[in-house]
Amino acid sequence: MKLFSTRSPEQLVSLPEAIFKSLPADGGLYMPKAFPELPTSFYRALAQKSFQEIAFEVAHRLMGEAVEASALKQIVREAINFPAPIKQIEEDVFVLELFHGPTMAFKDFGARFMSRLMNYFLDKGHAEIDILVATSGDTGGAVAQGFYNVPGIHVTLLYPKGKVSPLQERQLTTLGKNITPLEVEGTFDDCQALVKKAFLDKELNKKKTLSSANSINIARLIPQSFYYFNAFAQIRRSGNTQPIVFSVPSGNFGNLTAGLFAQKMGLPISHFVASTNVNDTVPEYLQSGIFKAKPSIHTLSNAMDIGNPSNFERMQFLFDNSVEKMRKQISGYSFSDEQTLEIIRRVESDAHYLMCPHTAIAYQGLKNYGTENKTKVAGVFLSSAHPCKFPNVYTDEQWAKVDVPPQGKEIMNKVKKAFPLKNDYQSFKEWLMG
Ligand SMILES: *Cc1c(COP(=O)(O)O)cnc(C)c1O
Repeated sequence: MKLFSTRSPEQLVSLPEAIFKSLPADGGLYMPKAFPELPTSFYRALAQKSFQEIAFEVAHRLMGEAVEASALKQIVREAINFPAPIKQIEEDVFVLELFHGPTMAFKDFGARFMSRLMNYFLDKGHAEIDILVATSGDTGGAVAQGFYNVPGIHVTLLYPKGKVSPLQERQLTTLGKNITPLEVEGTFDDCQALVKKAFLDKELNKKKTLSSANSINIARLIPQSFYYFNAFAQIRRSGNTQPIVFSVPSGNFGNLTAGLFAQKMGLPISHFVASTNVNDTVPEYLQSGIFKAKPSIHTLSNAMDIGNPSNFERMQFLFDNSVEKMRKQISGYSFSDEQTLEIIRRVESDAHYLMCPHTAIAYQGLKNYGTENKTKVAGVFLSSAHPCKFPNVYTDEQWAKVDVPPQGKEIMNKVKKAFPLKNDYQSFKEWLMG
């Protein structure tokens, strides 16, 4: 497998280089040079395959000889070790539940796969690495769990004191071993600024191999394409033969971009819906043809509070920078907090299905698309997180219906262990060097 930057397609890099660097020096984003289609035999047998079989075949086809087949099988076995079931909510409306992993959000897929892939390349002779992550909650938890106990990799998490939920804080601070949480006296932006400064610090980079696990890393996108194939298999297995539309609750658009990767590899997805909260940069671009990054606005679906989506450059690249081409494949809808609460209430009352706020937005995006397009389709909306992660969103009556999974209950009994850090680069650097 070879990759290039969206800004210099003539310069090819290897998969380990793209993964450990994360971002090309030219400010673009890494893309696979080619998206090899899977053979017709794969598609003919797709409905009979297990999730892990599908994941292996897709990854093997895309990554080629960059990872030995036997090692890749092992990586898939360890990383994709929880299900992503489809459930029917209404006629021709299905939810794809991506929250059955250790931190109960879809980011578990990306983090678990990425950590094991990094470990594979470390075994091949790369030096030990230090991963630095600034987190406002969800990403840090998935990364901490995903990298826990992976040899050769040390993870330092920076999170803003008092600004993550109790469950999120436990997910960040109760693991120990190779995971070090730093509780920063500051905001998420302060945490991010400290990490950025560390990456640019020449003295520090001489001593340490620093790497990033943020959502623009190509190693997080690859595994996110697996569940589109697996969802497709489940729909077909159920006997439904209609064209399939996916509605994706979006912030940085990594999830939707992974769906485009699947489509490029031949998965016959008929359309995508980009569903957002009021941070509607992409739906607006699809309307007006003008991309205008905005400051982010705080909402109930806070994992999607992003005004300048980092994967947009990949999407544009895939559509040759043409908004007309993108419109043929993607429709966009955005929803306010008031609408989000109303959607949650309505679907719980009509279909007895309680959704997290991000998921509710994906559901309604799908419905709006259905109203505007009369062709009969099987609509799948992605559920990106378990509702138990957002207790402040629900009425007492709704909360009583939330079934907290074992991984959510266990974590609250564990003891927090975090190191306090002043919002001061020198202290952070000394900590890293020491
Ligand atoms: C990260 C996240 C999203 C947004 O996903 P992107 O890939 O950034 O578009 C949506 N919902 C939840 C719960 C998330 O954690």
